[in-house]
Amino acid sequence: METILFLAHTEADGSLGKPALEALGVCQGLQKSLPGVQFAAALVGETTQPGADAIAGCGASRFLAVSGPDFGQSRYASDAAAAEALCRAAQATLVVAPATSRWNRVLPGVAQRLGGRVDTHVTGVSTDGAKPAINRWYYRQRMEAQLSRAQRPWFILIDPGSQPAAPIAAGHAAVEAVAIPLPDSCKRTQVTGLRVPAADAQTIRPDARLLFVTGAGWTKKQADGQTHVPEAEKLIRGFLQLTRASLGSSKSLVDLGGEGQAVLSFLTHLNQVGQTGSTPRHPKGLSTCCHGEEPHTVGWRFINERRAISLDPNCGWARGKADVLYVADAFAVMTRVNALLETQKPA
Ligand SMILES: Cc1cc2nc3c(=O)[nH]c(=O)nc-3n(C[C@H](O)[C@H](O)[C@H](O)COP(=O)(O)OP(=O)(O)OC[C@H]3O[C@@H](n4cnc5c(N)ncnc54)[C@H](O)[C@@H]3O)c2cc1C
Repeated sequence: METILFLAHTEADGSLGKPALEALGVCQGLQKSLPGVQFAAALVGETTQPGADAIAGCGASRFLAVSGPDFGQSRYASDAAAAEALCRAAQATLVVAPATSRWNRVLPGVAQRLGGRVDTHVTGVSTDGAKPAINRWYYRQRMEAQLSRAQRPWFILIDPGSQPAAPIAAGHAAVEAVAIPLPDSCKRTQVTGLRVPAADAQTIRPDARLLFVTGAGWTKKQADGQTHVPEAEKLIRGFLQLTRASLGSSKSLVDLGGEGQAVLSFLTHLNQVGQTGSTPRHPKGLSTCCHGEEPHTVGWRFINERRAISLDPNCGWARGKADVLYVADAFAVMTRVNALLETQKPA
């Protein structure tokens, strides 16, 4: 009989982030479809009671936690010790956790310590009778595989954004504290501070409803024989400020900076979407001045509704990559779009 363990770390204020609630929804699905399964929830963090209370109604029969100041920061040694102790205490066979950067770093090592197996970047979990199976993508999101494992414990890290967050009734959770001796050798690494870009410089917004992609066309000579990079910057920044969309880019555009050409100052390779870039998840995407070639659009795998603006009626978007292609000048279209958005801005 399987014992599912929902394993999450809390945020700085003791709450649970959206990725954790998405992984919890997967646990609830497994609990419903696997007969006679045990289900426990375990949290790690400086404070864990607020997080446990927020999911009190999730259906878990046990709530376990490793808490205290030593577990507030993301640190391999203490996180691994806490996760290992919780898995042992729950006698977990299926460990379902959010694929946050903190857990991605730690849980494969914990699986090794427990003689288990781990799968990262999981985008779906299903059951066929009493046998759980997972879905994940390979070869830069080109092939999807479904697989199952006999080895236990099996750690399943759920990719953030791939599942709906479970709506859960809050209440009071009776948390069993799991105490672990943490030797000084597990406390050598200290997080001394966080460096984050200013709110407006942060253009990658995984939770945004819209992905706005810029292509190399923004920096190319236009009908008047001139480039218009400052104007392009203004239009793109204006659109991002008005919509809070996430900013993506084609490889050609971010590469131009490295080649010393005029390029949009706020773009880095982190914005690059595609085969050698990222594969973000957003309900909608709008591509501008980008040709829509396969190595770029393969990164659009998880964008549901796609529109593009390109001068070229034969671009890749017109060949089945977009739902709607506007064959138009993106400078003109975005000027008009921004003007319309300005009129809708709350006073
Ligand atoms: C192994 C490999 C991996 C790769 N990985 C990636 C990747 O991860 N991501 C990626 O993006 N690419 C990747 N590429 C590169 C990819 O094949 C393309 O070269 C790149 O995506 C082209 O970028 P672009 O569409 O911005 O530029 P271009 O091909 O130069 O297209 C510019 C477009 O802008 C249009 N345009 C110009 N002016 C305007 C205007 N005023 N209004 C509207 N449209 C206008 C033009 O008509 C044109 O269609 C990879 C290639 C290889 C070989």
